Amino acid sequence: SLWSHLKMTCAIATCIYLQYGREDELLGKEPDDYTFALIGGDADRIGAYLNRSLRLPDLRGGSDIVKEATQAAAKYIASELGPDCVIFSAGGNFLAVAPAFMADDLIEKAKEEFERATEGELTITVCKVEGDGSRLKSAFGQMWRRLRSEVRKKKLVNPIELRPGLRAGLELCDVCGRRPWRHVDPMRIRPYDMAPRPERLCEACNKRRLRGLEVRARLHLKAESLEDLEDEDGYVALIKADGDSVGRVFDGSRLMEYGREVSPARLDFLSTYIHEVCERELRRVVEEDFGGEVIYAGGDDLLAIVKGRDAFECARAVHDTFVSTMREQMTRSLGVLIMKSHFPIYVGLLAVSQLLDNAKSLEVKNGIDFDIIYQIGITKEDVSYKARERLQKKKLTARPYKWEKFREFLSALSDLMGLTETQIYLIADIMTSDRPDKIHAAKCFVRSQIGRGLIGYEVEEKLLKAIDDGMLVDIVMARRRIT
Ligand SMILES: [Zn+2]
Repeated sequence: SLWSHLKMTCAIATCIYLQYGREDELLGKEPDDYTFALIGGDADRIGAYLNRSLRLPDLRGGSDIVKEATQAAAKYIASELGPDCVIFSAGGNFLAVAPAFMADDLIEKAKEEFERATEGELTITVCKVEGDGSRLKSAFGQMWRRLRSEVRKKKLVNPIELRPGLRAGLELCDVCGRRPWRHVDPMRIRPYDMAPRPERLCEACNKRRLRGLEVRARLHLKAESLEDLEDEDGYVALIKADGDSVGRVFDGSRLMEYGREVSPARLDFLSTYIHEVCERELRRVVEEDFGGEVIYAGGDDLLAIVKGRDAFECARAVHDTFVSTMREQMTRSLGVLIMKSHFPIYVGLLAVSQLLDNAKSLEVKNGIDFDIIYQIGITKEDVSYKARERLQKKKLTARPYKWEKFREFLSALSDLMGLTETQIYLIADIMTSDRPDKIHAAKCFVRSQIGRGLIGYEVEEKLLKAIDDGMLVDIVMARRRIT
């Protein structure tokens, strides 16, 4: 767009002006002779930070702190260079262009500002890559790829130190489990499977919870707790989604396939556009169409909570809205996790992150993985891709689904709603048994039911196909929770 182009031109002009002011002996240099720096920041272990949430306010608070910290870093750079020099900033990430001689100072200060806002609870890695004006124009994508790999390398060199475990005997915070508790939340009783008492929070976790309460008031959010978002059976769904291969779209790998390089202006346009789609369109879908809540929608990421029963319909709407708004140039993968609303929220966050990873492990991405958890002891391994593969081999699941396959799953799910509970459980029972001929036996059972007039012919074909595809057990699992 023209606006993005002008903004970028301004940024480059600003950088030149700042260098010009400093080295006036260089009067008359061409833009190509100036050295620019791309500065990129990426929060460390942001997933683990957000997952450190026992309750809805903890998650809201954490997400708000990330937002504020990202803005603080970007704002510092903008205050030094002007807002045009910040190419994008959202969800713990930022990218800026600066005159090379200012880069080190900006890196240090941006990091300081970020970590001041998080009070050190979440750190950020900030790096730079330098190039002259002609490289900035002609090889911007390459510079950005190099910057991202610099950030990754630096994270390996400086592994993020977790606070050391405390001596046994100290009573620890119920949220982070790492520091002694200092505050009690009288409004909250610990989850159901422990001896009931009010939750105990350490200083940092208490602040974060209070921030979450503040966020609710500020944004006029309806739900006080997860229970306010549950369906009539007491289930909520966490939906986590992000755009597929966004890095490749941004850094120009995608464009290079068409023989073009990405320009800073194009990157600026794309990131703004994707951010707006997520922030505006997907929020509308989740909140207005499904009465759920968006926890964050920044960059291309989305985390939302809806009623358990709405899980698949909302996931479908989020996916289709994104893909159609991006004019089918980008796809989106999702993780969907259904759980009891009184479970600690980190249980769901941990699982849904793994589910999204599973969906993204599919060869062409554009996938979805889902699960329903009935106990809080679930681990990432329980829902890992490897665990999925083991079940797939036995035809006990077809998860994760490619998007087209998921559509088939949804239509099979609704087609088979007419079966009685007993019929479908009998089939699932055979499928999950140890007998070596279980697939054959399940099909025989279906045919016998037809022979006795208990299953219609129109259902037979779908049922047999679902057995062959490994979808049947997924359908049995889902039909109890999804209308
Ligand atoms: Zn704590």
